[in-house]
Amino acid sequence: MLIGPQNLTLPVNHVRSRIGSAANAAGRDPATVTLVAVTKTKTAETIRLAATAGVTDFGENYLQEALSKMDNLADLALRWHFIGAIQSNKTRAIAERFDWVHSVDRLSIAKRLSEQRPFHSPPLQVCIQVAVVPEPTKAGALPGALPELAAAVAGLPRLQLRGLMCLPPPQPEAAAQRAVFAQLRGALQDLNARGLKLDTLSMGMSADFESAIAEGATLVRIGTALFGAR
Ligand SMILES: *Cc1c(COP(=O)(O)O)cnc(C)c1O
Repeated sequence: MLIGPQNLTLPVNHVRSRIGSAANAAGRDPATVTLVAVTKTKTAETIRLAATAGVTDFGENYLQEALSKMDNLADLALRWHFIGAIQSNKTRAIAERFDWVHSVDRLSIAKRLSEQRPFHSPPLQVCIQVAVVPEPTKAGALPGALPELAAAVAGLPRLQLRGLMCLPPPQPEAAAQRAVFAQLRGALQDLNARGLKLDTLSMGMSADFESAIAEGATLVRIGTALFGAR
């Protein structure tokens, strides 16, 4: 007998109920939080099972891996989110195949994505990745660079700048998690006070999504809690 991925209804419903509880505790409508299932290293078959369990949004980090799964799943109406590091020689395929990009952190990449977004597609939905906690090895714009970068990205014709994303280092304490997410929320509010109209905070993963929802996350990117360890 084949050992394959099992029915994913239980873990999907469990994560959804945790999202709902966190939203309710924060006085938020659970419908304002979108679950993005992170499927790096997972098979197309696993994605198909998650879609059967009602997941519509999927996040991928590696372009080649994502493209082959997208081809395999072309019969399903899924929204694809690129959440990994972006090399400039990968922007064309990202602009052609994805609906969202969460990991824009410099203007040169944003310009390429805008130029390469096909005219028959709606504008590419983008978030700027912010290094709220600066780490030398991680991507992300520095908070001080945000006003200028966000204004420039918002002006690109084939992109729609929707908000900010962060990928902070793991912290066990909920209070410390929340302090970081509150900084991203503050950065979004600051940009809106400068005249931008941003509505998206992509923050929170398996270990900290409840803290992120408490601080206003609208997209949570969850892998391990749905699919087990990678
Ligand atoms: C892998 C990954 C996630 C999901 O992490 P889990 O801890 O497995 O939920 C979320 N966001 C990004 C950018 C990732 O690379």
